[in-house]
Amino acid sequence: MTVTTDLVSYEDALASYDPVMGLEVHVELGTRTKMFCGCSTELGAEPNSQTCPTCLGLPGSLPVVNAVGVESAIKIGLALHCEIAEWCRFARKNYFYPDMPKNFQTSQYDEPIAFNGYLDVQLEDGEVFRVEIERAHMEEDTGKSTHVGGATGRIHGASHSLLDYNRAGIPLIEIVTKPIVGAGDRAPEVAKAYVAELRELIRALGVSEARMEMGQMRCDVNLSLMPKGSETFGTRSETKNVNSLRSVERAVRFEVQRHAAVLGDGGTIVQETRHFHEDDGTTTSGRVKEEAEDYRYFPEPDLVPVAPSREWVEELRAALPELPRVRRNRLREEWGISEHDMQSILNAGAIDPIVATIEAGADPVSARKWWMGELARNANESGRSLDELPITPEQVARVTALVVDGSLNDKLARQVIEGVLAGEGDPDAVVEKRGLKVVSDEGALGVAVDEAIAGNAAIADKIRGGKVAAVGALVGAVMKATRGQADAARVKELILEKLGVSEG
Ligand code: ADP
Ligand code: MG
Ligand code: ZN
Repeated sequence: MTVTTDLVSYEDALASYDPVMGLEVHVELGTRTKMFCGCSTELGAEPNSQTCPTCLGLPGSLPVVNAVGVESAIKIGLALHCEIAEWCRFARKNYFYPDMPKNFQTSQYDEPIAFNGYLDVQLEDGEVFRVEIERAHMEEDTGKSTHVGGATGRIHGASHSLLDYNRAGIPLIEIVTKPIVGAGDRAPEVAKAYVAELRELIRALGVSEARMEMGQMRCDVNLSLMPKGSETFGTRSETKNVNSLRSVERAVRFEVQRHAAVLGDGGTIVQETRHFHEDDGTTTSGRVKEEAEDYRYFPEPDLVPVAPSREWVEELRAALPELPRVRRNRLREEWGISEHDMQSILNAGAIDPIVATIEAGADPVSARKWWMGELARNANESGRSLDELPITPEQVARVTALVVDGSLNDKLARQVIEGVLAGEGDPDAVVEKRGLKVVSDEGALGVAVDEAIAGNAAIADKIRGGKVAAVGALVGAVMKATRGQADAARVKELILEKLGVSEG
C-alpha cells in the first residue's frame, strides 16, 4: 500500500516541487440546540441523554432547520467575502458508520449556502497572503465512539465500543479553500496562519468559541506536489482531523517531505486519507478515498430549501464586526507597537483583555505591561489561558490607577495582583488587608531618611562630596526600612535635599 521511503529534507523537496494545499475546516457552532432538532448541545452531559428520535434517525422522525445555524453560516460566509446563495438545499451524504445513526449525514453538496470568497492572512514578516475560499456549507456532526479494552484506545485490539450520540446533529460549518498555490516554502506557515485567522474570525463573529483542543474546530489538510514549473496538480493526500495550529503546520511539512520522497523514487501518491500523529509529527495511511459518487448524494426531501432574503443578508452584513486582521492593525497603530509585539500579544490571547483594560481606564502601556508580564507568567505557570485567570480587566485597570496616583509602586502593584489572583478580593481590599500603601506621609519618610543617613555616615559623606551616584545605597536602605512601600523617586529627592546636594 504505502511506499515507505526515507523522507526527503524539506529544503530539497522545495527545490524540486511546488506544494498545492487545500484546507477543509470544520467549525462546531455554539448554538444552544442541534441543527435539526431541539436537543441541547451542552457539553459534558451523561452519554445519550441529549438525543431524540430525529438525531437518532428513528423511522418517522422529521428534521427542522435551526435558524441560528443558518444565520451563523451566513455570517461566516459574509465575513469570508463569499456570495450567499439565494436558494440552496441540504443533501444526504450516504454512508454507514456506527457513530452516524441515520446512515447518512445531512450536509450540503452542490448547493452550498456560501461560495467564492477569500480570507487575507498575515504572515509573520507582515506580508499578506490571500487564501481563496471555494465554499462554506452547513452540515451536522456525528456521534462519538469510544473503543474499550485495547491498549491504545484505537479500534484495533479493542474488545468493544461505546457510542454516545449527544454530539450527533450538532451544527457544523465546513469551510473549504480553493487549491492554495504559490505559497512555496511558506506553505506550512500559510496553512497555520490561515487556520489561526479563521479561528479569530469565528470568535469575533461570536458563532463559536472555536477551541481546537476541544474539537470545536478541526482541519483536514490536503496536499500535493507538482514539479517546479508545472501547472498540473499532483495527486493529493488528505490528513484528517488535525487539531492544533502547530499540528497543521507540521502535517503540511511532513506531507511535503513524504510526497517528495515517494515521487523522487518514481513512485505514485495514492489518493487516501491519512492520520496525523502528535507525538512524532508523522502521518500514516488511513483509508483509500471515496469518490463523491460513492456517497450517492441527493437533495434532502424532508427539509425545505433555504432561501435567505436579500434584506436579511444585508442586515447581517451591516452588523458584521470589524475583521480581526483590520482590528489588529488598527490597535497596533494606536498602541504604536511593532508587528512582532502584536504577534506575541495575539499568541498570548491578550488582545481582548488589554482592550478591555484600556476601556476600563488604563493607559495602553500599563495594560500591555501587566497582561504580557505578570499575568501571562501566572497563566503560563498555572496552565490557564489569560481569560481563565480570576482577575478582571477592571481590576487590572484599578491597579494601574493606584500606580498612577502614587498609592502603589510597581513592586506593590505586583503583590496586589497576586492577592487578587489568590482570591483575596478587589485591588482595594487587597491593599487594605495586606497593608500595601506606598509610604508617602512626609513625616514618616523623613524619619526613615534621617535614620538611613545616620546609619550610613560614610556613604552620606561621599554624596556630600559630589558622588551623587552613591545615593542608590541610601535609597535602598530606606526602601528596606519601609518594606518596599516608599516612593523611591521621592526618597531620593528627600535624601539629596537633606544632604544639601542637587542632582545637577
Ligand atoms: P473531499 O470531499 O474529497 O475532501 P473537497 O472538494 O471537499 O473534497 O476538498 C478538497 C480540498 O482539497 C479542497 O480544499 C481543494 O481545494 C483541495 N484540492 C483539490 N485538489 C487538490 C490537489 N490536487 N492538491 C491539493 N489540494 C487539492
Ligand atoms: Mg475532505
Ligand atoms: Zn435530537
